[in-house]
Amino acid sequence: MSLRVPGPTPCPEPVLQAMTKQMINHRGKEFEELIVHVTARLKELFQTEGDVFILTASGTGGVEAMVVNTLSPGDRVLALSNGVFGERFTAIAESYGAEVQRLSFEWGRAVEVDAVARALDADPSLKAVLVVHNETSTGLTNDLGAISSLVRRYEKLLLVDAVSSLGCIDLPVDAWGCDVVVTGSQKGFMVPPGLSFVSVGERAWQAHAEAKMPRFYWDFTKAKRFLETKQTPWTPAVSTFYALAVSLESMAQEGLPNIFARHQRVGNRARDGVKSLGLSLFADEAYASNTVTAINAPDSLDTGKLLGLLREEYGIVLAGGQGKLRGKIFRIGHLGYVTEDDIEEVIGALRTALPRAGFVRTG
Ligand SMILES: *Cc1c(COP(=O)(O)O)cnc(C)c1O
Repeated sequence: MSLRVPGPTPCPEPVLQAMTKQMINHRGKEFEELIVHVTARLKELFQTEGDVFILTASGTGGVEAMVVNTLSPGDRVLALSNGVFGERFTAIAESYGAEVQRLSFEWGRAVEVDAVARALDADPSLKAVLVVHNETSTGLTNDLGAISSLVRRYEKLLLVDAVSSLGCIDLPVDAWGCDVVVTGSQKGFMVPPGLSFVSVGERAWQAHAEAKMPRFYWDFTKAKRFLETKQTPWTPAVSTFYALAVSLESMAQEGLPNIFARHQRVGNRARDGVKSLGLSLFADEAYASNTVTAINAPDSLDTGKLLGLLREEYGIVLAGGQGKLRGKIFRIGHLGYVTEDDIEEVIGALRTALPRAGFVRTG
């Protein structure tokens, strides 16, 4: 099966093999060496000198950790939202008692930096800005470089969901002054689900010292104290750590600039291919994502039938639309262990499957 959904993503064979290794004591020497090694490698990928913690959690757990470690109930925060994951970030902050001001943009359109500036001007009591770097549900990458430089000027805390971008699309955490950034093992890292990685910078630690949202499992103070002893506070997903070590080794060999360039090429190939089929992109192309491509489903197309055909007859698994986009779009995930040839395979399959699912080419 060719798995082309935006997470979990396919894993290289050596990464899978690493997971068959016997368990070790997570309070023993072998694990100490493992966590020190992978943490150092992760800092290179985050492009940060700050702290990076490895949480045993899916990406959403990491997003929750960012919120509860830096905010207090009643804090006013600005949540930028243009898709399912922006809405989820907002919902997490609200469920812990933050006073969330939502700044929403049409799905498929990027966050407008001027609108963010106006919102920050209008309410000086805002403490933090929440943003999703790459909105997986719409196939769009927000201009985090511009957003972060604005947020720095206003001296607010910046929390970033980079689950489907970090390690695929450039995100220099320190250079952009992103205070807390989270990602997950099952997206660009080519590792099975189970781990979430989170960077914590200087300003985030200051916020953490005063943050009163309830937390126990996610507490960054505990994570830091245990990491100083080369451990995690709780039993980690040991096998996923094994896989991560192997994957980070190959990512280091390829090198960040090459990884970003490959995702750019793969993204271009996906967009060109989709357009060559007479289909159109859902997201504003100026902000189209290099990790996931969302495609408008024309009225003639039965997306359920298309995804079923691709799965059953072509061995290719694509993703449908989430939330209000169900039935309106379908998506190709192209992050992590993916090449231009893999995209050619998808486009070739679509070429014959689309008419069988009702698609009548008009353009
Ligand atoms: C996948 C994803 C998440 C996390 O989802 P989990 O299922 O909890 O791992 C969060 N944000 C974005 C942008 C994602 O793509």
